[in-house]
Amino acid sequence: MAKVIDADVICVETEGRFEAAHLEAELAELSPEDRARVFAIIATGGTTNAGIIDDLEGLSLIARREGLWFHVDAAYGGGALAAPSVRAQFAGIENADSVTIDPHKWFFSPYDCGAVIYRDPAIARRVHAQDAAYLEIATGEESGFNPADYQIQLTRRLRGLPLWFSLAMHGTDRYTEAIERGIELAQIAARMIMAAPHVELVREPSLSCVLFRRKGWTPADYGDWTHRNHKSGYALVTPTKSRANGEFETVARFCFINPDTTEEDIKGILATME
Ligand SMILES: *Cc1c(COP(=O)(O)O)cnc(C)c1O
Repeated sequence: MAKVIDADVICVETEGRFEAAHLEAELAELSPEDRARVFAIIATGGTTNAGIIDDLEGLSLIARREGLWFHVDAAYGGGALAAPSVRAQFAGIENADSVTIDPHKWFFSPYDCGAVIYRDPAIARRVHAQDAAYLEIATGEESGFNPADYQIQLTRRLRGLPLWFSLAMHGTDRYTEAIERGIELAQIAARMIMAAPHVELVREPSLSCVLFRRKGWTPADYGDWTHRNHKSGYALVTPTKSRANGEFETVARFCFINPDTTEEDIKGILATME
């Protein structure tokens, strides 16, 4: 999206949570010209790789102090806002100017339903609404809410309908149960990994992500393992990389979304690494 709007990105590299101190240090290092060009801070509410939730509170306070837009990318993790067991870890998200949440991830919607929530939708509308003589009848104030006015596409399918229908059918409590189960499965998987001799945790599970290593494996071994399980039709579990002390290591990753995943499934997958 930064490319779309022709904005430069300053990537603040961390080996865990992105915290207020990292941001202060980065801002202090910028030249006055670059400092004057900073207009937004983007934090992640549940990294896709490891489920890490940044210091949303601390970062949001800096954004407020500096008059910067504060965006939280909660594409994957946002679903966990519906899980009381981890909700407190998102403290500060209420200060965001915008939040992305992908219903096609942890809200179980079919592809491709991505959502953005704005603090002040009127700003987004001013930026994104398109006008043309032939659209006036559809875009006038009296036409009501039109999703096309709040993001860059004009013509689009009714992507929100499957989410709305599922919420109407199941109710929010079922979502809470299904999301909590994903978090629980991550804890269960972590215990199995700690109990098995051939694998070990890379870090504590966060949200529904579990990073673990197969002792003695090279990156090629992880690749072969993924392809073997995929080709046989048994499971598609892909490796990723984890960074520690500046070094990247290829590791295995579980990310539990489907509440019907069983403990047997996890046990079976770990057995394919023996
Ligand atoms: C999935 C994900 C994205 C990309 O979302 P799309 O729905 O594929 O556009 C961006 N950020 C995070 C944190 C994600 O998990």
